[in-house]
Amino acid sequence: MIRISHAWKFFGELTALNDVSLDVMPGEKVVICGPSGSGKSTLLRSINRLETVDKGSIIVDGQDVNSPDNDINKIRQELGMVFQSFNLFPHKTVLQNLTMAPMRLRKIPRAEAENRALELLKKVGISDKANVFPAMLSGGQQQRVAIARAPAMNPKIMLFDEPTSALDPEMIGEVLDVMVTLAREGMTMVCVTHEMGFAREVADRIIFMDHGQVLEENAPQEFFGAPKHPRLQKFLNQIL
Ligand code: ATP
Ligand code: MG
Repeated sequence: MIRISHAWKFFGELTALNDVSLDVMPGEKVVICGPSGSGKSTLLRSINRLETVDKGSIIVDGQDVNSPDNDINKIRQELGMVFQSFNLFPHKTVLQNLTMAPMRLRKIPRAEAENRALELLKKVGISDKANVFPAMLSGGQQQRVAIARAPAMNPKIMLFDEPTSALDPEMIGEVLDVMVTLAREGMTMVCVTHEMGFAREVADRIIFMDHGQVLEENAPQEFFGAPKHPRLQKFLNQIL
């Protein structure tokens, strides 16, 4: 589904990605963790070409995202992305936030897009907020709208970049619940998160990055139970 081969990314002198290779299979849930500045966001953003890698290749659903022959907008339609900041359109209602892209990009008729949006809002537990503006919602509610917006486009893969790190502690659980539901439905997911409870419960594999490198990659049980790299042992001691 995603094949990252020997990806390198430089920002001037700085090596943000250092020979990163990673495969994600259909339906797989991969969690990426690591210290601040380790390249997690750069890796995630490279998958939908918000960053372009300097060396190496990234194939999404059979298409090289950096090839000029491929339409990146087509590829991006298959990738739902949820960021730390919710990125909702402030002047559109919750419902409009969910229907705009499917209507414009997927050419889905309004009635169908609205039905689907209402279904998704119900799933994330805020169907009563369909007609309000984002500013009237709590941070947790806004993030749930942002998460519902991605599957409204029927993407094949969802990318999450620390979706809970801007939230008050009491709102984190409700957003993680929505992510767990998506995971259970079989969505292919790549999540940058420090929510280790989520990682333990949902991840098929956990990746640990430091200084742009993947230092360790394992199933949750081994990752937490028998971390090998000293840097990962130190990291887990700090956060657990
Ligand atoms: P965090 O946990 O703080 O979000 P991260 O692991 O997501 O960190 P990245 O955002 O991928 O880290 O950044 C990796 C490195 O690349 C950092 O040293 C960062 O300063 C640098 N970097 C990222 N984006 C840019 C940019 N546009 N220009 C220059 N340097 C950048
Ligand atoms: Mg980041």
